[in-house]
Amino acid sequence: MAGLLAHSRVLALTCVVWAAPHLVAPSHAQTPICATATASISVDFPTGGRHGCRIEDERNITLTVPPEGRPINSSPWYAFRIDASARTRLNVTLDYDYTEHRYPPHFTRDGVTWRPIAPSDVLIDDANHRATLRLHLAPGTTFIAGQPILTTGAMHDWVRTQVAGEGFETIEYGRSIDGAPLVAYAGGDGPELVVAITRQHPPETTGAAAFRAFVARIMSDNEQARAFRASHRILLFPAPNPDGVARGHWRWNNGGLDLNRDWQRLTQPETQGMTSLILREAENRATVAFLDFHSTGRNVIYAPPLDSPSPTISFLPFLRQQLDAGMRTPPAWSYNHTPETGNSKGWALETLAAPGITVELDDIANAETTQRVGEIVADALMQYQAAN
Ligand SMILES: [Zn+2]
Repeated sequence: MAGLLAHSRVLALTCVVWAAPHLVAPSHAQTPICATATASISVDFPTGGRHGCRIEDERNITLTVPPEGRPINSSPWYAFRIDASARTRLNVTLDYDYTEHRYPPHFTRDGVTWRPIAPSDVLIDDANHRATLRLHLAPGTTFIAGQPILTTGAMHDWVRTQVAGEGFETIEYGRSIDGAPLVAYAGGDGPELVVAITRQHPPETTGAAAFRAFVARIMSDNEQARAFRASHRILLFPAPNPDGVARGHWRWNNGGLDLNRDWQRLTQPETQGMTSLILREAENRATVAFLDFHSTGRNVIYAPPLDSPSPTISFLPFLRQQLDAGMRTPPAWSYNHTPETGNSKGWALETLAAPGITVELDDIANAETTQRVGEIVADALMQYQAAN
């Protein structure tokens, strides 16, 4: 790591280590989108951004950060790889056009351990439309991305490890437009169903971290969790948008749609497959909880109004109480029911009478916060179900 981003040593480093890198091996030949005499930039790896590249001079490169289509919510994802043939100072400017810088840059040398780039090496213009990363590159490969890269393969590997030995089924519920298998995990048994989803939106990895903490808690080896699994059917969707993730999209699948706006019309194979499987599992079962983990600019839970027609609507005030009691800065809550917008929580209430919620983690939530939210949601659910 010597020489790389030397300024970052002044930062109190929070480093993120995913279990499996699933990135292209540094030795893998890349097709650069542009190159200086000492550094080449490429994007042909899973989650690689849709960047255009312009060499300004040997020290300065501009990368455009275009969305996959418009109109689209502002979630400007970037991910690129730099191969340096020598020690190199390079300024890479991310050009967001009319949208604004959102995700703070992270880097890895080995594809496993990620660290934030020091804020002092990230210069953002007044309008927030351009961010320049001052890089001090060591020879070799460096990946830079808006969040530590979390591929679909890594998500599945992690869930499989968690549910191993617990009798969970791996269910392929369809194929994406690009032909990727759409895979869910179902286990436990009983008259009540719990559904947990994350990553409908590719860059939202702090939401995925809270999902993982939720799953780990439910799969714990203790009496409460064992009893919960023995009396509930649990259905997990860790990667419902594999094409969007692989293609480095901001929001959409490869059918040009935001999947979390398609739960009413159900025009895409991803949403069709997911809802068919949920309906199959919900047959003769009550869906007592429906949790969809996302990320945005703050910690907030979107919930239906508390007088909504759901037999387990009182789980929501109980969950709020537990989060308020268990966190110094608990998530805000926002109550609405707008199924016509096609989001998952609206569908859950309309179709299953389930108290569906969207759990949003701050884009910059640290590991402690994502862990805490996921664990409290799981603990609250297990306690509520044991008492009701
Ligand atoms: Zn989202």
